[in-house]
Amino acid sequence: MISPISQPDPASGTERPNNNLLRRLSSGDFALIAAHLAHEEAEANELLYNPGDDVDTVHFPCGASLASFLVANEDGRDVETILVGREGAVGGIVSLGHLPAYTRITVKFGGPFARLPIAKLDAAKTASVSLRNVFARYADCLLAQMFQSTACNAIHTIEQRTAKWIISAMERANGDNIVPLTHEQLATLLGVGRSYVSRVIQTFKAEGMLEIRRGSILVRDREALQTRACLCNETVKNHFDEVLRGVYPAD
Ligand SMILES: [Zn+2]
Repeated sequence: MISPISQPDPASGTERPNNNLLRRLSSGDFALIAAHLAHEEAEANELLYNPGDDVDTVHFPCGASLASFLVANEDGRDVETILVGREGAVGGIVSLGHLPAYTRITVKFGGPFARLPIAKLDAAKTASVSLRNVFARYADCLLAQMFQSTACNAIHTIEQRTAKWIISAMERANGDNIVPLTHEQLATLLGVGRSYVSRVIQTFKAEGMLEIRRGSILVRDREALQTRACLCNETVKNHFDEVLRGVYPAD
């Protein structure tokens, strides 16, 4: 479902979509793309791109919406690499012009997104060095997330990674302690079987850190959960803070 976003007031920025990257742009830079932004409501599990698809649109998650990058594997298991919330965008951040998608990109938590044709973003990058700079900085943060995710998958335990993903999803959900992640989704995020995830979740539950709801997880003791997570999420946040201060969601 797509409808045009109401014409924002570039001077105040009050009607900007609730996406931190878009809010980070100066009034002048936002005015370059404002007229081309459209609002869309996306459902959980909706497909944005398949590998090889022509990337022609940038999607900016707004509010608590989340997108994820999945790498398809030859044995049929898809592994999620990183989550992108209102601190960023998916599709064609680095590219100039149409290029094929490398990963599958899906909607993890449904909700509002702002969409922008790549051609309009490219034109704005050509017209403004400062706008180009914001997106280049975001690309650097995205790369940092990828590096960290690679290291995390290699050396951290399933328990550490489970706690990390739950906290990381929670941070984007406006501090809400209900995280709409199913065991199935967590298993995909971790690249392990469902039974491994269920075991870890049961341990956390037995220790009073969380409760299991239908299709979601209710976090009861975030601090305790934090102590069980690896520090990968914090490391990425610190990089965001240095490169694009104020863009990573804080609760
Ligand atoms: Zn880690």
